[in-house]
Amino acid sequence: MDDAVNTNRVKHWVRPEVQALKAYHVPDASGYVKLDAMENPYSWPAPVVDEWLAALRAVSLNRYPDPGAAELKAQLRATFAIPGGSEILLGNGSDELIQMILMAVAGPERVVLAPEPTFSMYKIISNSVGLRYHGVPLKADFSLDVPATLAAIVELQPAVVFIAYPSNPTGNLFAREDIRAIIEAAPGIVVVDEAYTPFCDGSFFADLARYPQLLILRTVSKLGLAGLRLGFLVGAADWLHELDKIRLPYNINVLTQASARFALSRYPVLLDQTQRIRAEREKLAADLAALAGVAPFPSQANFILFRVAAGRAGELFQRLKEQQVLIKSVHGAHPALHDCLRVTVGTPEENQAFITALRAAL
Ligand SMILES: *Cc1c(COP(=O)(O)O)cnc(C)c1O
Repeated sequence: MDDAVNTNRVKHWVRPEVQALKAYHVPDASGYVKLDAMENPYSWPAPVVDEWLAALRAVSLNRYPDPGAAELKAQLRATFAIPGGSEILLGNGSDELIQMILMAVAGPERVVLAPEPTFSMYKIISNSVGLRYHGVPLKADFSLDVPATLAAIVELQPAVVFIAYPSNPTGNLFAREDIRAIIEAAPGIVVVDEAYTPFCDGSFFADLARYPQLLILRTVSKLGLAGLRLGFLVGAADWLHELDKIRLPYNINVLTQASARFALSRYPVLLDQTQRIRAEREKLAADLAALAGVAPFPSQANFILFRVAAGRAGELFQRLKEQQVLIKSVHGAHPALHDCLRVTVGTPEENQAFITALRAAL
């Protein structure tokens, strides 16, 4: 078939909202000090790697996975103290759980609401399944604008409200009473996305008993297992049983199930790593604050958002890249993020390489 004919065919059949999307861009990071994606920089000690590989020998690649992943769920429940009255739904990354939630509620005129700036997948997935996405701007200090959010809830009656806690890309924890006011006002689901829980002391798990409309999203990605692609959603059985019908039967593959079970059996190793990252975050924030023309924002996550002199974010990002340090420029992603860059907390050596490169670039 002629190329032009096929181009027209694509245009005719692919939904306009999909054609309007931009694919989530992941830059090639090989050879860089990689501080762009909120990964845990530490690998496991060699004896732990050997035990993991031994555990994988028992996996049968010729068999389909346990579709319910019962043992993994039990281990997640024990490791993360998931409240007894709540159910668990697993996703191929928490991104897939966001997709399942939105597919379950999608329909003409239905709205998804989130404070902005926030995690970009809420909007991308909303658009991809035909939902209308509405962002409510955060206040200048990145706290929730509660009156504006409540007004938007009354007006738009959103099917789902997403709140990242701690927030990405700003790194702060919103006030609990602000989030509770939103949960109480929402007519549909409120998802509190706790992707960065390993780096802070707050969670809404205890609120699940009070609010059946609350679903809590967790992931093992930021904890140190980003390559596994495992997220979990915690909440009332009423919701999760419906969402489970949308889940593809074998979404958590055998290697992920076996590896996650092994990793959770060595949870203290991961906890030790996240404690080191938390300590390094404070040092990195102090080092950033000491640079003239750099203003870091407080962070409860494993990254730090910082503002540079007006008009310089793009250039500094490039000059870091030339020095083999990859971070993320969020300037232009949202008006509130003007002149902002975001750096993941790495190992002490990586952080030092970043600070040295930034100092040279400034
Ligand atoms: C990274 C991130 C996720 C995605 O997690 P995966 O489990 O890796 O898909 C979800 N929510 C927020 C806020 C994140 O920053």
